[in-house]
Amino acid sequence: MIPMVDLKGELEILKAPILNALKEVLESGEYVLGKKGKELEQKIANYVGASYGAGVGNGTDALYLALRALDIGPHDEVLTTPFTFFATGEAIAQVGAKPVFVDIEEDTYNIDPLKIREKVTPNTKAIIVVHLYGQTAKMQEIMELAREFNLKIIEDACQAIGTEYKGKRIGGIGDIGCFSFFPSKNLGAYGDGGMVVTNNKKLYDKIITLRNHGSSIKYVHSTIGMNSRLDEFQAAILLVKFNFLDVFLHKRKEISKRYTMELNNIVKTPSLSETREHTFHQYCIELDNRDQLAYFLQQNNISSAIYYPIPLHLQEAFYYLNHKKGDFPISEKAAENILALPIFPFMTFEKQDRVISTIKQFFEKLNTSEQY
Ligand SMILES: *Cc1c(COP(=O)(O)O)cnc(C)c1O
Repeated sequence: MIPMVDLKGELEILKAPILNALKEVLESGEYVLGKKGKELEQKIANYVGASYGAGVGNGTDALYLALRALDIGPHDEVLTTPFTFFATGEAIAQVGAKPVFVDIEEDTYNIDPLKIREKVTPNTKAIIVVHLYGQTAKMQEIMELAREFNLKIIEDACQAIGTEYKGKRIGGIGDIGCFSFFPSKNLGAYGDGGMVVTNNKKLYDKIITLRNHGSSIKYVHSTIGMNSRLDEFQAAILLVKFNFLDVFLHKRKEISKRYTMELNNIVKTPSLSETREHTFHQYCIELDNRDQLAYFLQQNNISSAIYYPIPLHLQEAFYYLNHKKGDFPISEKAAENILALPIFPFMTFEKQDRVISTIKQFFEKLNTSEQY
């Protein structure tokens, strides 16, 4: 079976340095919020061009803490797209605010800046911009709208660490950037982890207080926070993997180029441009016979996946927002037609060729059966 992600290949290179780093932590006696975490915070902040980084428990908490730091809560509205991982909308609801959805662009699956204006009300406080699959949203247009309407920008960069936009790395462009280190992400720990980055010292101070029970002085609590911290073992693992991040991202891009070259005549492949860089956390194609192809691939021992089959506005958890089918047609169409193909830095060209030829075979069969 060719899996969606295979972490075994990279483990061969990473195993020795990671075991060393883990041993160091084990013997240090420092397990939560220590030296490794600090070093990682500085490295990631520096990498994305932000002044401050705060390690947290996971990407979902990163989003929640970003909203809290911006004082967003009940009676506030936050714009985002319904075509994202559930956590984006969930964090908005967790702080008591209302998720207000904006449909996506057909070509990149990211928030459509042209549809933002009509959703802004006096209660709108922020936009969570998701850089889906690793591709940048149209940040310049979005930042201009943010200035016009005095909105804060949170970047959900959980799938897009290292992606560049006009010479800057995403996550460091808006007011706050959020990253996830879930194992399958482009920079993945071997457990949960996340990071919040910002250029604003006040926001940073709030975030490090909130992640630690609303406390900046031991046993003195200025606000209700939470316990969401990055542990030293995960930070140590991430520091080792961080050294390989750019190489791994480059490999993803190489694999994606081969997919596009071979498949763009038969299915819709990711659309790229100079300002729409993509680091391919997922490589997604779009086609009418999505479910049939997924089945055919499975029959041929090839995994594929759907990110995401149900847009947020049609999730039971958000029924209270009173949306119905048809409200966000581009998101709904994407949910019906999209299919993610296996991609990971250590995917061999041989394996990839098997995926490609199986897809071609599927379409040959489909075409001949249509002729009869
Ligand atoms: C993974 C992900 C999250 C949540 O990150 P966790 O670390 O799993 O909590 C949020 N948003 C997007 C777009 C993601 O892909």
